[in-house]
Amino acid sequence: MTTDGLVAPKPGNTVIRIGSDARASIAGFRCDACGAAFTERTLACRACASRTPPAEFRAAETGHLHTWSVVHRSYPGVAVPFVSAIVDLDDGLTLKGTLHGVDVENLRHGLPVALVFDDAGGARDKEGVPYVGFHFQPRENQA
Ligand SMILES: [Zn+2]
Repeated sequence: MTTDGLVAPKPGNTVIRIGSDARASIAGFRCDACGAAFTERTLACRACASRTPPAEFRAAETGHLHTWSVVHRSYPGVAVPFVSAIVDLDDGLTLKGTLHGVDVENLRHGLPVALVFDDAGGARDKEGVPYVGFHFQPRENQA
């Protein structure tokens, strides 16, 4: 619950954090020794083997398309085709998500994208509490 009595949404996956203001963000973990960024909490750095656990930070909400796959077959109820994207966020974190709002012929490495939090397809838990998900969209007109 938030302080004003509204029900705070739940994170739809392990990288999403919900702040006390009910705003969503992406959590990253950065190594103080080498600066490498990860999407998972670890006991040691996977890049330099520092034994100091990488510290959590609030990830950037802009980045660039690194690579992608156009998905033509999926589970029943999931509209295809869609673009499964790997995005390099501007703070060094790499994140996988769906890219909306771009025609396939306009996909290119380095396409500027923004992170957008959404309603996770309308998903709710058994008490009706909504989940928060995310997707990416181009930062320039690509449609
Ligand atoms: Zn490191």
